[in-house]
Amino acid sequence: MVEQVDVVVVGLGPGGEDAAGRLAEAGLSVVGVDRRLVGGECPYYGCIPSKMMIRAGNALAEARRVNGLAGHAEATPDWAPVAARIRDEATDNWNDRVAVDRLVGKGVRFVRGTARLVGPATVEMSDVSEVSGVDGAVGADDGVRRFEARRAVVLAAGTEPVVPPVPGLTETPYWTNREALRTAELPAELLVLGGGAVGLELAQAFARFGAAVTVIEASDRVLAVEEPESSDLARRAIEADGVSVHTGYSAKVVSHVDGRFTVGLEDGSHLAGTHLLVATGRRTDLRGLGVDTVGLDPTARAVPVDDRMRAGDRLYALGDITGKGAFTHMSMYQADIVVRDILAQGGPGADYRAVSRVTFLDPEIGAVGMTEAQARDAGLAVRVAVSELPRSARGWIHKAGNDGFIKLVADTDRGVLVGATSAGPTGGEVLSALAVAVHAEVPVATLRHMIYAYPTFHRAIEDAVKRLD
Ligand SMILES: Cc1cc2nc3c(=O)[nH]c(=O)nc-3n(C[C@H](O)[C@H](O)[C@H](O)COP(=O)(O)OP(=O)(O)OC[C@H]3O[C@@H](n4cnc5c(N)ncnc54)[C@H](O)[C@@H]3O)c2cc1C
Repeated sequence: MVEQVDVVVVGLGPGGEDAAGRLAEAGLSVVGVDRRLVGGECPYYGCIPSKMMIRAGNALAEARRVNGLAGHAEATPDWAPVAARIRDEATDNWNDRVAVDRLVGKGVRFVRGTARLVGPATVEMSDVSEVSGVDGAVGADDGVRRFEARRAVVLAAGTEPVVPPVPGLTETPYWTNREALRTAELPAELLVLGGGAVGLELAQAFARFGAAVTVIEASDRVLAVEEPESSDLARRAIEADGVSVHTGYSAKVVSHVDGRFTVGLEDGSHLAGTHLLVATGRRTDLRGLGVDTVGLDPTARAVPVDDRMRAGDRLYALGDITGKGAFTHMSMYQADIVVRDILAQGGPGADYRAVSRVTFLDPEIGAVGMTEAQARDAGLAVRVAVSELPRSARGWIHKAGNDGFIKLVADTDRGVLVGATSAGPTGGEVLSALAVAVHAEVPVATLRHMIYAYPTFHRAIEDAVKRLD
């Protein structure tokens, strides 16, 4: 039997949960399905618990900076409060009851089960263990359910950690971000495969608590998608925390014997540790979602969408699955477009010129829009400028922990910024001014004649703007 509803939302991560709730509040009949936890990766295994770890690690680092600035301080790291905070405050011990109740309270019928498309606007849900909401239909249902959406199916199924095909790896008890963020114990010696944002953030946080951390990155620099200056800064920052960094090396074989991991590298050398974190990216299982039944390529890396997030007849996609940037704010941004389109409310379509992202290292490395290399590849008339934070008034005053810079990427034909990086103690916050400049295409001439408060970190933007001349 196929039940008719207005909308089916597959995956209730940040964007799916938001879209389902808003559409139900607008009066549509909405079924939201998730096979794991309502809220998705971000609150349980991603942004929030990782930032709690980072906040704690940064507090330790600040305490260590008292020496030479304000007397003497000794900080004794203890992982227990970090693990307890993640378990009790962030994730409710990885229980989504509150989130389910909130969603149901908005009028969404929630199904806990695995969903797949089985034809146009038709979704089958299997392994159903819970159905909550609407008509008081709360209870267990272990059967298979089928829904046809009159208005839309919204694919918001997010991504899973990539586990690279390294011989031996899958036979070992390796961690992904999910185990790393659930750990009640500090790993003694942590090997991290992957020097992207997730790998580096966790590497620095664990190192600040006393773990011996080694990062192995296949490309020739960490944080390879960002500016080379960002890669250099990130490397220096984590090395200062005692992290050992190996770039240009791929793992060729992994083993786990007597409680120890060994990673064999391509040059024949080996690295060993008590724990291994795989942080080599994310992937979407489009085949498992049955996208071939609606004419989409199940081997693609992402679901292609137009600027209204439409992926086909009565089909939308949002979030990580669209490949436009694996960020919570992207998922929420796209959810807003989906909701407005389904409700025919109008408003602007998707615009990816000014995508902000922050790697929450200490120093924070924020970036928006294009990198210099991307701007040059796009054939723009590029001019760049860099100002160093330690040379700014505020950076000099700040002293310990003042590393950072502002880098601007300008299109001289149009006289606007097309990209920028803001790294420093509050790099992610300073980024907001640059995000406005890139998004709104504020003329560089206007940026040059603004009044920047003294002595702020954001005043380093003015120094960089002057250097564009
Ligand atoms: C360690 C880490 C730190 C991060 N930190 C940040 C950060 O600081 N800032 C930031 O912006 N982003 C961060 N991210 C990324 C962020 O978590 C994701 O971009 C965001 O969660 C994606 O949201 P989404 O809506 O696409 O889906 P997800 O959050 O991935 O949720 C998708 C949901 O769909 C469900 N699902 C999948 N397939 C099916 C199916 N077939 N049937 C039913 N349900 C299904 C899943 O169970 C899941 O609950 C981080 C990620 C990680 C791993």
